[in-house]
Amino acid sequence: MAIESLETKSIQVETEDNALLEFQETLKEAVSLMKYPLQVFEFLKKPMRFLEVSIPVRMDNGQTEIFQGFRAQHNDAAGPTKGGIRFHPDVTADEVKALAGWMSLKCGITDLPYGGAKGGIICDPRQMSPNELERLSRGYVRAVSQIVGPTKDIPAPDMYTNSQIMAWMLDEYDHIREFDSPGFITGKPLALGGSKGRETATSLGVFYILQLVCELKKLQLKDTRVIIQGFGNVGSYLAKYLYDSGAKVIGIGDVLGGLYDENGLDIPYLLETRDSFGIVSNRFNSSISNQELLEKECDILIPAAISGVIHKHNAARINCQIVIEAANGPTTKEALSILVDRDIMVVPDILANSGGVIVSYFEWCQNNQGYYWTEEEVNVRLKEKMHTSFDNVLTTAKNYHVNLKIAAYMEGIKKLAEASRLRGWLNY
Ligand code: GLU
Repeated sequence: MAIESLETKSIQVETEDNALLEFQETLKEAVSLMKYPLQVFEFLKKPMRFLEVSIPVRMDNGQTEIFQGFRAQHNDAAGPTKGGIRFHPDVTADEVKALAGWMSLKCGITDLPYGGAKGGIICDPRQMSPNELERLSRGYVRAVSQIVGPTKDIPAPDMYTNSQIMAWMLDEYDHIREFDSPGFITGKPLALGGSKGRETATSLGVFYILQLVCELKKLQLKDTRVIIQGFGNVGSYLAKYLYDSGAKVIGIGDVLGGLYDENGLDIPYLLETRDSFGIVSNRFNSSISNQELLEKECDILIPAAISGVIHKHNAARINCQIVIEAANGPTTKEALSILVDRDIMVVPDILANSGGVIVSYFEWCQNNQGYYWTEEEVNVRLKEKMHTSFDNVLTTAKNYHVNLKIAAYMEGIKKLAEASRLRGWLNY
């Protein structure tokens, strides 16, 4: 089972930081820089709708377990809401709310006709059988079915969920509605209306951004040394793109540890060796931890696993020129200002990892049209969107003399605020 991303408690994170508070603080800053009234912040700081559900699941041992699930719909002024569903033991209500807000900003930056959403279930899929996972996935859809749908709120994969889980969810939804509805969910298998290029979309989007950053910084991609934390769906494809383009991937971190070789790792071999949860370091005698890996000298550091891994305790020791946030929220607010003060360029998550939702949008368009595109068509359009979004964020950063994170928030807010005002929800 391929996974969308990779997270575990064994990667050290800054736990006292709360994603929702960080989202709100940066949002407030961006709203006031744009000279919007405080009302805009008050409206956007929380999701417009939040549902908490209990999902009873019959386990393989015959016992029933009750799982807790969430769905947050941040803002649907610009269109239906959109965002993945994560399965993880550490999922919290506040985290899901923050992630939904970030999805709104991603859709704003990339000019998709959506607002943001996010779902989550507190569970550990690594400890569950495929049958249990299927019953949990179907149970979640039954629990949230009234508020989701192809013109309401469209789920997708996120951490520890994949195309098979999307397939079960689609099937359950079709049974409830009694008609075929492929546009209900994205990240589906190709045979069920998935899009070519969806599986690689997030990584390819990050790779396009990385090429643009290299141009900007006058670096030759093939001369760069890159460290990637996370070897799940995002990290592994990204490592492959980098390896194929001649860059040296000198470090890979996974849930259990890290692998490091200053001459460059053998990425094709590691891809063959990794397990379905992206774990590979346990196959080798490696002494480096994933924490130490983050602090190793390199040109480009790409956290592609979980939130909060670059925090106030290690930010001063991060030893690179550029950080590209492929995971959602890997750098805390305090860490970001330390990195910016040290002249390290940080490309924010809501820009860098938006390739996933962009190709999800393409998948939804194809489902609505009933006409399917070639992989080349998908990738060309993805590239165009990533380039335009990058240029817009860069221009805003220059015009307002702000860092890329604030600039990305400002770009993301524009459409959200305007669509809300035009509907009469805001009266600035
Ligand atoms: N889970 C992905 C994200 O965080 C993709 C969401 C989607 O495709 O809707 O951007």
